[in-house]
Amino acid sequence: MTRPIRTLLIANRGEIAVRIIRTARSMGIRTVAVFSDADTDALHVAMADEALRIGPAPARASYLAIEAMIDAACVSGADAIHPGYGFLAENADFAEACLAAGVIFVGPPAAAIRAMGSKADARRLMQAAGVPVVPGYDGADQGIETLEAAAVAIGFPLLVKPSAGGGGKGMRVVGSATEFRDALASAKREALSAFGDDRMILEKYLGQPRHVEVQVFAARTGRTVHLFERDCSIQRRHQKVIEEAPAPGLSEPLRRELRNAAIACARAVDYVGAGTVEFLVTKDQFFFMEMNTRLQVEHPVTEAITGLDLVEWQIRVARGEDLPRAQDEIAMRGHAVEARLSTEDPEAGFLPQTGRLDHLRFPVELDGVRIDTGVRQGDDVSIHYDPLIAKVIAHGSDRSEAIGRLRAALAGTEIVGLKTNRGLLSEIVAHPAFAQGSIDTGFIEAHQADLFGRADHLDERILLLAAFAALRAQERSTAVDAADPFSPWGEPTGWRLGEPATLRVTLAIGERTMTLEGACRADGYVFDTPTGHVAVTGTVAADGAILARIGDRLVHAHGVIIGERMTLFVDGHEAAFELVDPRRPASELAVAPGRLTSPMPGLVVAVTAAAGQTVVKGAPLVIVEAMKMEHAVTAPRDGRIRAVKVAIGDQVAAGAELVVMEDAA
Ligand code: ADP
Repeated sequence: MTRPIRTLLIANRGEIAVRIIRTARSMGIRTVAVFSDADTDALHVAMADEALRIGPAPARASYLAIEAMIDAACVSGADAIHPGYGFLAENADFAEACLAAGVIFVGPPAAAIRAMGSKADARRLMQAAGVPVVPGYDGADQGIETLEAAAVAIGFPLLVKPSAGGGGKGMRVVGSATEFRDALASAKREALSAFGDDRMILEKYLGQPRHVEVQVFAARTGRTVHLFERDCSIQRRHQKVIEEAPAPGLSEPLRRELRNAAIACARAVDYVGAGTVEFLVTKDQFFFMEMNTRLQVEHPVTEAITGLDLVEWQIRVARGEDLPRAQDEIAMRGHAVEARLSTEDPEAGFLPQTGRLDHLRFPVELDGVRIDTGVRQGDDVSIHYDPLIAKVIAHGSDRSEAIGRLRAALAGTEIVGLKTNRGLLSEIVAHPAFAQGSIDTGFIEAHQADLFGRADHLDERILLLAAFAALRAQERSTAVDAADPFSPWGEPTGWRLGEPATLRVTLAIGERTMTLEGACRADGYVFDTPTGHVAVTGTVAADGAILARIGDRLVHAHGVIIGERMTLFVDGHEAAFELVDPRRPASELAVAPGRLTSPMPGLVVAVTAAAGQTVVKGAPLVIVEAMKMEHAVTAPRDGRIRAVKVAIGDQVAAGAELVVMEDAA
């Protein structure tokens, strides 16, 4: 029995909504987007054939509102709903509500979602099916004494994990028995806020495992196949950052075992549709972790190596069709790697960044590169949702070609306005250990020294380029470009009275300021540098494309000026400069020392600092919860707490003062 799908409602937002719309459209299916008040102008709304408002910005009132979603389906005449990932994708009540309303849910049966929805239940189910699980505790008794006794029996380090968990939220590694109660309380707090459920499981914390998962697909006919495996070991905060397919360096017998276990897992819950079975892999052992009963964020790497469209498969299965291919008709070609680009600050504990994307440019026409994004230049990244703005996916004939292509794609990605993890992603994929495939879930931590703190890549060439671009913009501001009167760039008239003038430019980077003097020539400037006179000549186009000759070298770059800030993109590096008005008093440039502010709007959930206390660099002082995650504001240096300005329960704005520090006497 098959049922047609003529109109598909996408109960999601961002890149995944856009991605689903693309496939639906190619299948001749009409698409309906839904949006909250924060997403009125979002890309997915603009792309769909029809769009309906479902509620205010907070997800609970919009993208998580089951009734509003079903109403939207009825109003728009949708005969099916695709939930994407996150939000309602693994909500069994929602799957049932769709069924009750006579709308096809593009996903597994509610019973399968429910069976895998609790990590505790899933662990028990898999053990019964003969699939190995990490030694741990998954009992119903959540009494603190019981949990503590179980923890001691398992041994340390162990992991406290929300049974209802996802996205790495609410997980805590506990190193010793003395830390257990505090970690449990903090994990429960985060889990309750994120999932409305604070039941916990305990697992032995495996040292540096790899995260390997198997994509499975099943049809109502009972046919179940796997689409090979992915490695998602490169993680931060237990959340995936880079994923690839196939998993590098696994033995054939281990691959076979993983695939068989994944299929057994799907069969054990009468699975239908797309699912992913996640495993932790140590040297020669593997353990079931969980099954995600939905499309994964990282599904494009599987699409790249198989040449299949997983959303198309989902829709076909939802219509009641058999799988388009049998196991022996599914082949793998080459290697694919994906990087998740998020507006977050890796240097500040991966703190999500919210605000406007002033400038956004992805590379075009790179072989084997696919970019899935849900945002456009000028969009606001809201505090209410995930900071993932795009996935950059590269496919090649082998792993090193795929990595090379991903590097190029990341190097060609330009973002101004919000901090992102682009630089970190570039460092990871350029790292020799990554190239060798020597990866595990501790990768980012283990290579911290190589990966972080390289954002400010400054050399004389970049400084000269910056000075050149700044002077061009300065000259430009006194001329008018008829073609684009709003562009800060463009050719100066070249008309000068009398002798070549000398122009002066002051650039600030962080706390450093420097002034350069350039003697004007018809085609550029000659700068006085510590190494002598250097001529910088060339052009800056209206879109900021710079073609400059510095001494004997020709350099292509791109400059973006927003307000007083200029960002230069050169060879995959970026450097941001403040264009300083020479008349501005120097005191304004200094940052008030010692005042620690909230990095974003949020709720104060813990205060560990006390006035008068002496603290060491890195000590957590205040914990602010935002975007369902806890962020510790830590001491930037050794010192003493002069005052604490907030208390637990305070709602704070971005920039609100939390703590004042002073030098210890
Ligand atoms: P979530 O559902 O929140 O994503 P998972 O159970 O999938 O949580 O785990 C996320 C990540 O946490 C894993 O990919 C792995 O890096 C780490 N992890 C989970 N369980 C363990 C464990 N027992 N030992 C070591 N690391 C683990």
